[in-house]
Formats: sequence, C-alpha cells, structure tokens
Amino acid sequence: MIDGHMHLENGPLTKEYVYEFINEAKKKGLTTIQILDHTHRFVEFKPIYENLRTYEVQDLWLQGKTKFCNSVHEFIDLMKDIQREDHGIEVLYGLEVCYAPEYETFLRKTLAPLELDFVVGAIHSIDGILYDMNFSKELLWNVQDVNSIYQRYYELVMQLVRSALFTQLAHPDQLKLFNYYPTYDLQETYNELAKALVEHHVKAENNTGIHYRYHHEDIGDNKQLLQTFKTYGVSMITASDAHQPSHVGTDIDKIEKETMA
Ligand SMILES: [Zn+2]
Ligand SMILES: [Zn+2]
Repeated sequence: MIDGHMHLENGPLTKEYVYEFINEAKKKGLTTIQILDHTHRFVEFKPIYENLRTYEVQDLWLQGKTKFCNSVHEFIDLMKDIQREDHGIEVLYGLEVCYAPEYETFLRKTLAPLELDFVVGAIHSIDGILYDMNFSKELLWNVQDVNSIYQRYYELVMQLVRSALFTQLAHPDQLKLFNYYPTYDLQETYNELAKALVEHHVKAENNTGIHYRYHHEDIGDNKQLLQTFKTYGVSMITASDAHQPSHVGTDIDKIEKETMA
C-alpha cells in the first residue's frame, strides 16, 4: 500500500518528526510513503503567492508563522539524510506546488535545480482566490457562478498538466469539498483531463483527505472520475493528504482496490 501525499507542515523539519510519519506508515501496513510540503512553507516560493494578497484575509493567512519559515534546501537535506537510513519501507520526498499559470516561468526556473523524487502540482486557487478555506464561501462560492468556477478550475488543471512541471496531480476533484456542484455534466472535461494525464505521464491522486478532513461522503475521488481514469489508462496513486502523523494512511485500505484495479 502506498500513501503518496503527506505534509510535515505542522511540525519542525527534524528527523524525529519524520520518524513519527514513518512509524505510523509501518503501523498502517504501508510499503511506500511520499513526504512533501506545500511550497508556501519555503521562502524560495514566496513570489508565487503575490496574486493572493489582493484580499486581506488571504494576505493575513500568508503572514502566518508556518508560511515561508524555512528554506527548501533544509527540507531536501533532511529528507536526503532520512533516505540514507534503512526504515524498512520506501520513503520518497517532493513538493506540493501551488500552481498558477502566471508563475509558470518562475516555477520552471525555481524547480529545475532541486533534487526531488516527485513534484505534485495542485490548484488551490481560482485566479487569485483560494477555494478551500473557511473564508472561501464568502470570497468565492457565494460570489461567483458555480459552473464558471468549475470551468475555470479544470482549465487551470489542464494547464498544470500540460506545463510538464509535474509528475503527479493533487486531489483532482477537491473542488467538491463544500458540496457545490455544477449543473452541467463533467464527463467531457474528465475525458480531456484523462487524455492529458496519460500524454504527459502525470499520475492522478485518489485522495482521501476530503473524506476524513472535510467529511465529504466520497472516500476518494468521485466514481465517475475514477471510471474515466480507468477507461483511459491513467496511472493513479493513493494519497491521504495527512497533515499530522496520526493521519498517515487514513482510509487508503478502503480505496486501494478501486485505485489499482
Ligand atoms: Zn492540496
Ligand atoms: Zn496536500
């Protein structure tokens, strides 16, 4: 069993903290884990968040003490040290990059010299507005048309996949987290996405985070999307999106079969 997405975010960049993730993974019977952090932990990536600062509540969020508090090299050096040790399971490391097309050139330049096992691309905002925060209803969902939000989100996801910057797509249908849905059928969108993922050799996550963190009824990605990925032969990876050691591997056993079949 694999957990392809977990964050050190809420703890220090120390071996002891990483061991907590590894020990939990072994307890849950995982054979491979992928450890990452959001690019908003690392000072090198500060410029790609400028477009969020237009809104005061987002600017305040970016001023939090866990933001831009380390160098990405501290993280990479730590994870290299971890990989030199034998843990009885495979431990890989990478980044979850907040992608926005206007920063693609910057990202290409910044990511190129970094030694990473994988690079996860994520859409967390729609043209400068975060869609998954407690303030997102007020800023986005109650203001803009839901169909337009969905259309724009998947346009951004397509650009992300086609950028060739990433090896993995984070939580493809996370937009459902507050149970807002479009009135149009997403099948055509899913087909295009599946084709692009295959063409660019990008793995799609089957991510359980929305289920246990936001209490959404789907345990992982929605069934229609999963079926489409299967039909097109998209390579998939199970992921918990754990933000603390105890969440490592959460519900992965429940989605493993549908992901790998
Ligand atoms: Zn994410
Ligand atoms: Zn994440």
